[in-house]
Amino acid sequence: MEKVKIQLSERKEKVILPPNLGFGKYFTNHVFEMDYSPEEGWHNAIIKPLVNMAFHPAAMFIHYGQAAFEGLKAFKRDNGDVVVFRPQDHFERMNNSSARLCMPKIDIPFVIDALKKLVDIERDWIPAVKGESLYIRPFIFGSDSFLGVKPASHYKFVIILSPVGAYYPEGFKPVKILVQDDFARAVKKGMGECKTPGNYAASLLAEEIAIKKGFTQVLWLDGNEQKYIDEVGTMNFFVRFKNEVATPMLNGEILPGVTRRSVVQILKDWNIPVSERLITIEEIVDGYKTGETLSAFGTGTAAIISAVGQLTFKDTNMIFNGNEPDDLEIKLFEEITAIQRGQAEDKHNWIVPVPKGI
Ligand SMILES: *Cc1c(COP(=O)(O)O)cnc(C)c1O
Repeated sequence: MEKVKIQLSERKEKVILPPNLGFGKYFTNHVFEMDYSPEEGWHNAIIKPLVNMAFHPAAMFIHYGQAAFEGLKAFKRDNGDVVVFRPQDHFERMNNSSARLCMPKIDIPFVIDALKKLVDIERDWIPAVKGESLYIRPFIFGSDSFLGVKPASHYKFVIILSPVGAYYPEGFKPVKILVQDDFARAVKKGMGECKTPGNYAASLLAEEIAIKKGFTQVLWLDGNEQKYIDEVGTMNFFVRFKNEVATPMLNGEILPGVTRRSVVQILKDWNIPVSERLITIEEIVDGYKTGETLSAFGTGTAAIISAVGQLTFKDTNMIFNGNEPDDLEIKLFEEITAIQRGQAEDKHNWIVPVPKGI
């Protein structure tokens, strides 16, 4: 493919990051975009100033949901170096989502190179504070104007960037999770393993109900029997039993998290027994009563590790570690943060540097 065209914004004022970044509220000045057509494949690759996008009201993704996205992060280290965490894994997952939704794949080396150029241009937008980062949101969608269900023939791929604050500004705080069996997020052979907008729309009502009851998020059980653990909201789920840390195996129904994969690898590196298997909710509840179930946590790019303080299933309230994060959760959080910030060895080549002026 041709080189990425670069069209810089006229805005020359110095970037001043707002004090409370929060999540997903602020966007940098530039975006990366490219178009797909059956004749030309991917083309028109450009980094350009961020402006509102315009669509025909019949643009297919709006009606039929043919779209997928990713979420990954860039960090500014204490010495000013900028790095991205596991971009290859994220774009491979995006291509898997695209394949399931009949969308074209992207050329990963080309897109990683374009991402590095974009992040380099927006260097000043990356907070240098521990816990803060630049959230990267690539997405793809079918853009033809047509009414009728079939795969689109034209697509757009876009990357936007958003500086984000620390997930735990007041310190590592456990969440309160409701196990819910009134709704399903995904079913066997469905789209659960794709990061596609419909999955998130499907999750909203159950989450709204849980939040009204005072919970932070819901834990989804499998869509077919409501018996096995799937995942939590937008995080994968781990349970620490006395002799083993377990996480649901990838069954097509859950999102194959990059953080999940990193945690499994780190536990193996530490010689802590870890298994990817079927876990029933009963096993967790029974284990809680006998003292086998010690704690539970969620994993995802945004929070890295999210300790579960309370897990409620029907009439059973399970409180883990006195509603405080336990030693393993803290250690995993610190390890992944240290790898990202260049303070621990990157044994598995998860870090991709963004050279200045690339
Ligand atoms: C993104 C996501 C995750 C976490 O994936 P990471 O790659 O670790 O960020 C887990 N579950 C769902 C449903 C997600 O959308």
